[in-house]
Amino acid sequence: MVKKIILLGATGSIGVQTADIIREHPYEFSLIGFSAGKNMNITRKLIAEFEPEIVCVQQSEDAKMLKAEYPAVSFVAGADGLIEIAVRDADIMVNAVLGSVGLEPTLEAIKLGRTIAIANKETLVTAGHLVMDSARQYGAVILPVDSEHSALFQALNGEKKEQASRLILTASGGSFRDLTRDQLKNVTVQDALNHPNWSMGSKITIDSATMVNKGLEVIEAHILFDFAYADIDVVLHRESIIHSMVEFHDTSVMAQLGTPDMRVPIQYALSYPDRLPRQQAKRLNLAEIGKLNFQEMDYKRFRALQLAFDAGIAGGTMTAVLNAANEQAVALFLNEEIKFLQIEEIIERAMDQHEVLANPDLETILHVDAETRKSVKNMLK
Ligand code: NDP
Ligand code: MG
Repeated sequence: MVKKIILLGATGSIGVQTADIIREHPYEFSLIGFSAGKNMNITRKLIAEFEPEIVCVQQSEDAKMLKAEYPAVSFVAGADGLIEIAVRDADIMVNAVLGSVGLEPTLEAIKLGRTIAIANKETLVTAGHLVMDSARQYGAVILPVDSEHSALFQALNGEKKEQASRLILTASGGSFRDLTRDQLKNVTVQDALNHPNWSMGSKITIDSATMVNKGLEVIEAHILFDFAYADIDVVLHRESIIHSMVEFHDTSVMAQLGTPDMRVPIQYALSYPDRLPRQQAKRLNLAEIGKLNFQEMDYKRFRALQLAFDAGIAGGTMTAVLNAANEQAVALFLNEEIKFLQIEEIIERAMDQHEVLANPDLETILHVDAETRKSVKNMLK
């Protein structure tokens, strides 16, 4: 049976690679609807190729313009449009939008018991407890797309969770892993966008350079697999070949390996529990790689990772503050309005100023998210 796919964030880095997987397996998957932001160039190409039933774009003017060009397709727009498309009847909803805009559409799809492949880590960091509680309540399956979480998911396959003792996330270290804190003072946006191993969207590439990305992933792992923060470790692994590991009580460790290619975890989330061949993909050649390196994480050097652990342990609304302050700070850095190290300073200040509210509901989270963004803007005045 062909699985019907709805793809949120189709024009982004994960979105385009998800389209690659759907294209490679036309007898397995069919793209029946997708959302885009403002990139009309890729939107047009995807419509022409996949002939979806429905498309959501960020701005209503774009929806009107596209309707004139493709009268057979339904077009919706904005935040309401994103929800409308997320709840469309489908087998899998892939959430590959950027930032906390992915939260409400995901919660609505969960209410219908949909299977959700989630790349959008900001949604889990902001409101992970709501996502997971409601997935349990409505019987929705949440499948990880992020490479580390896909690795953990695969390493836990067929195991009893109670017999696992530790999650070990690997971190490449990002663009600046060999620089000292002093050398970080004057790095530019261009330097930061140059990731050694992965080609990704610009926000997550900056997050990798600050190590916020690994911090968000630690929180994401806590949410998805229900491990205490004390049982989640991060190890620096420059080559990004081992994507993460699970340690069991008998000290045995299961690792998942592969070339750094996001299409592998994307495909696994779509084909789960099956595995499909990948014709054009590069296979792992360990003899060619020769050597894998590991190094202890330095939490003073990578301060943002420590802040993420602190936010996770504080719990409640604090992870939403971490995420919103970071989203705002990264946008300012990309716009060259602040320096690189100010990103973590802003996060730390936003967290210091915040009084944690335990077990927040959606309204509280959205309020805290908006307030945090406002307070970051005020910090610069
Ligand atoms: P991109 O910036 O490349 O793409 C983001 C997508 O979301 C685009 O389709 C964009 O539209 C859309 N979008 C952005 N803002 C809005 C908005 N306000 N309303 C509606 N749509 C919007 O991001 P990535 O693909 O890199 O990342 C997506 C998510 O996946 C993130 O949460 C990231 O952390 C996570 N992730 C990414 C990985 C990667 O390799 N890239 C790896 C693991 C996780 P448009 O471009 O048309 O404006
Ligand atoms: Mg990752």
